[in-house]
Amino acid sequence: MKNMLKCENCKVEYPNHLVSSFRTNKKVLNVCGICALELGNIIHGINRLKFDGLMAESLRLQAIEFREKIQKEKEIENVKP
Ligand SMILES: [Zn+2]
Repeated sequence: MKNMLKCENCKVEYPNHLVSSFRTNKKVLNVCGICALELGNIIHGINRLKFDGLMAESLRLQAIEFREKIQKEKEIENVKP
């Protein structure tokens, strides 16, 4: 079993390398790349669709892939008799 960490924003559990600390003006949150982009946009009043940094963008894409994977697993689970 891999070490998992829950994103404090979307509450999804990810492998822990996909969750990183994100500093807001009030506190530090452990969030996934998807939420880090959203929160950054809100804080800075901008509307980026992706990160400029390759590392951050790679983590965001992996988080999206991971969400899709667990979503598919849930669907398969629901189809079972
Ligand atoms: Zn998240």
